Amino acid sequence: MNDISNIMKVKDGIVGLIVGDALGVPVEFKSGYDLSQNPITKMEGYGTYNQPAGTWSDDSAMTLATMHSIVQKQGIDYEDIMDKFVAWYSEAKYMQGNSTFDCGVTTSSAISRYVGQNTPALESGCKGERDNGNGSLMRVLPLAYVKDIDYETIENVSGLTHAHPRSKIACVLYVEMAKSMLENSGWTMEEHIFSACDKIKEYYKDSPELKHFERIFNNDLEIVSGKGYVISTFEVVVRCLLITENYADAVLEAVNIGIDTDTNAAICGGLAGIYYGFDSIPVDWVNEIDRIDEVLSLCERFEAFCDESQ
Ligand SMILES: [Mg+2]
Repeated sequence: MNDISNIMKVKDGIVGLIVGDALGVPVEFKSGYDLSQNPITKMEGYGTYNQPAGTWSDDSAMTLATMHSIVQKQGIDYEDIMDKFVAWYSEAKYMQGNSTFDCGVTTSSAISRYVGQNTPALESGCKGERDNGNGSLMRVLPLAYVKDIDYETIENVSGLTHAHPRSKIACVLYVEMAKSMLENSGWTMEEHIFSACDKIKEYYKDSPELKHFERIFNNDLEIVSGKGYVISTFEVVVRCLLITENYADAVLEAVNIGIDTDTNAAICGGLAGIYYGFDSIPVDWVNEIDRIDEVLSLCERFEAFCDESQ
């Protein structure tokens, strides 16, 4: 039986992600120590990128670009998703203002290969060990809402920019956690997280990459780092979700760990938004997001696509 609640929750996750991103933007690159002296407790403006309060960055923009592509193409079209990433990168589409900021090195390399060298979308992504930043993990949440999404498709969407197997597995694990929250109401946060881990452990049991996820699998997360490595980010996200009991505390915890504040809070906020629901996201924070009406409208159209494809 298809769980209809699956498709009534798009704005929970997507607005959860965007609010987390915007909370982190003004303090990106600040250390955990600095933030412990002066923690973020609300939506603030200016700081790192000198943007007004409620400004989102690449994380939200690439998530919105992916949703827009899926709605327009009524499915997953890798070239079109890349075309929309190009529009974001070069024309600041999907940003609130008229400039793009905060693009990661791996993402910009992949986009340059796609545009400049006419490389097919599925071959544009970077595959090196050093290409395991959190730049695909931060934008794959919409896939959790797509009916019958399979692991190969999630891996391919990651691989448009981040094609190393570690990044791909992280994206699959993240989407599995989100899907668990969408499909299994009444489960605890631990049940969602570790049931998804169990699926990944089984599916990728022969992969040498799996060892990098062991601290997550074992909930061995006393000490985490906010740097932008995909595994570090995932460890921060799981820790923040497990040690807090509401959306606001989870995303503020993620921001105040420091360094890659926006992406850590975006990825955490996506899951916290789904788990606790849209109404749990502080309304003051949502209202600070410029162009939130356009986001909500896209969420509705995306939801309609998921609905029609049931
Ligand atoms: Mg960012």
